[in-house]
Amino acid sequence: MNRTVTSARGTDPLPSPYFREEHELLRRQVRRFVETEIKPFASAWEEQGFVPREVLRRMGELGFFGIRYPAQYGGSELDTMGSVVLAEELGRSSFGGVAVTALVHAEMASVHIANFGSAEQKARYLPDIIAGRTITAIAVTEPDAGSDVKGIRTNARREGESFVINGAKMFITNGVYADLYCVAAKTAPEARASQSISMLLVEKGTPGLKVSRALDKTGWRSSDTAELAFEDCRVPADHLLGREGGGFYSIMRNFQNERIVLGAMAMGEAEEALDLTLDYVTTRKAFGATLYDKQVVRQRLAMLATRVEAGRQLGELVNEVMYACVQFHGGMGYMRESTIERMARDARVHSIGGGATEVMLEEVAKRLRR
Ligand SMILES: Cc1cc2nc3c(=O)[nH]c(=O)nc-3n(C[C@H](O)[C@H](O)[C@H](O)COP(=O)(O)OP(=O)(O)OC[C@H]3O[C@@H](n4cnc5c(N)ncnc54)[C@H](O)[C@@H]3O)c2cc1C
Repeated sequence: MNRTVTSARGTDPLPSPYFREEHELLRRQVRRFVETEIKPFASAWEEQGFVPREVLRRMGELGFFGIRYPAQYGGSELDTMGSVVLAEELGRSSFGGVAVTALVHAEMASVHIANFGSAEQKARYLPDIIAGRTITAIAVTEPDAGSDVKGIRTNARREGESFVINGAKMFITNGVYADLYCVAAKTAPEARASQSISMLLVEKGTPGLKVSRALDKTGWRSSDTAELAFEDCRVPADHLLGREGGGFYSIMRNFQNERIVLGAMAMGEAEEALDLTLDYVTTRKAFGATLYDKQVVRQRLAMLATRVEAGRQLGELVNEVMYACVQFHGGMGYMRESTIERMARDARVHSIGGGATEVMLEEVAKRLRR
């Protein structure tokens, strides 16, 4: 199908205010890699439960792991939209496990070193991280603490020129096969919770670091996920990442990038799902016509495609927003004296004036099929 309303699909994308020529070059490069080096093989990786190391090395060679990192370490110094392109296109691979393996390494774990590492740490680790020779994991979650990051109990006590780590980590992506772990641990358990956590680098093979078990998941089958144990795991004091006690803030900062990247990956997946479904409903016949000839089917797909495109462009879903805002104003949201009441009435016309929603959806539907 050639959809021209989105730059992620079709041969003739609309100009985008967000993506420049270098982004589109990257998009084509990742898409080619996905078509030739992921899709034909990834079912087997789903079976074996991990992405082969040579595939990750190849992604490193192609520059996918250093999109925003400094050129001095082998990075490309692109902007956030470069990461968005990578995540969208890996999302479009239809193998979430492959996408998340690469994205956790490149965009969620190694960012702790790139953003908070010392000059020595960056010089030591980033070149191999970017080249795909060193694969990273981020270990924050614990069996007893997930959403509540401040509630972690893994601790790292200072002993001379070392930190000695004890505790457990749960649900760690790349946890089985990573070479380098960025680990959150309490270095000052008695301090205010937000000041109590530090990030530490732990290399694979450090005595006291064990993979307790590889976890068997519902999905993301080609992504390895582990529970980790730290038993008197001693790391040199210079493996502290960033400021001692500043770990909570660095985790929160890096979570922002994580959300952007996972959002882009999700939109790539949604686009791919719509493309697959469109191919299906335009060929599948029932009751004397294709499924796509049924208005309810094409309008539903058109609505979803529109919303996905809005999600990609971070555009507004104004009436949905207004509905929720009125709802949360309660009775006052229904009173003429409240501003939100007027705004909601005003916004209503967006789905009628300048092209009614149903008419616009027919236009979208026509282009979906073209
Ligand atoms: C496949 C997979 C890969 C992962 N990879 C990593 C990784 O690489 N590194 C890492 O550190 N972690 C990783 N995680 C862990 C992930 O970050 C946590 O699962 C997530 O933060 C939720 O924590 P939890 O599972 O402990 O759920 P909990 O925090 O126990 O929450 C359970 C449920 O309670 C509800 N809830 C929680 N808090 C609130 C609240 N304040 N208000 C209302 N409802 C609430 C929500 O519905 C939530 O789903 C991964 C998880 C999965 C499933």
